[in-house]
Amino acid sequence: MFNPKIASKLRALADRNWHIHTTYSTCAAPEMTPEHVLATADRLGLKSMALVDHHHPGDSHLDANLASLKSDVSRRPHRVEVILGAELSAYGIDRYAESLADIQAIDYRLYACNHYHVQSVAHPEQGWEHPDHPSPLGYKEHTLAILRKLIPSGRAHCIAHPYLGCYLSAYLDDVRAMTRLITNDELAELFALARRPYVAWEISTRHLIRDVPFARRYLDVGFEAGVDFHLGTDAHALCEIDPRPQVERLIEAMKAETVG
Ligand SMILES: [Zn+2]
Ligand SMILES: [Zn+2]
Repeated sequence: MFNPKIASKLRALADRNWHIHTTYSTCAAPEMTPEHVLATADRLGLKSMALVDHHHPGDSHLDANLASLKSDVSRRPHRVEVILGAELSAYGIDRYAESLADIQAIDYRLYACNHYHVQSVAHPEQGWEHPDHPSPLGYKEHTLAILRKLIPSGRAHCIAHPYLGCYLSAYLDDVRAMTRLITNDELAELFALARRPYVAWEISTRHLIRDVPFARRYLDVGFEAGVDFHLGTDAHALCEIDPRPQVERLIEAMKAETVG
């Protein structure tokens, strides 16, 4: 049975988007200038949004980019509440692309733990770490080990697109084989670990919709445990800024999966 309370909880979160990339991320569409993003969020009537550009292993200019983004945002009048942050990298077990000093001044530190597709051409040793055994079980254990180190470290305010195998298509035949191995007890254990120091968990609509059986378990266990979820669409284009259509698609997909 699909729990209708989950649908209303998701809808209640859908007037904010805490995962948006701007042109300070090279993978964002050229239209994602801070000015266009602010105008779009205001037109949609969003309450708040977090701008979180990538900081991959081997990247530089984190401070300079954040300072420029802050100045771009302050120059344009807007109604939406803007949180200036970054999507940072826990690129292995206890391995981070940023020093602790680098991140102190960042208001919102969203940490990605599963950008397995990221390679560093300039510094191959700083490419994303992979497990010794590149199997679904190997990736599951690796992801959990990264989270068990990251969460108590005090670095992260929120975990980006947690657990999902969205970046593993080059490495696994079935990327959902990994999330199938993560038990509800393990989800509950990690949610509990994140209570202190307080770390939120992302509801990444665009990625969860590709793994609906996992989405249902993640949300069921998380809402049951009273987890503070942050909703984000991981927007790289203006048409992805509005969370509401993605939330509705996710709800419909979860309902259909229950029937099926
Ligand atoms: Zn990401
Ligand atoms: Zn992102």
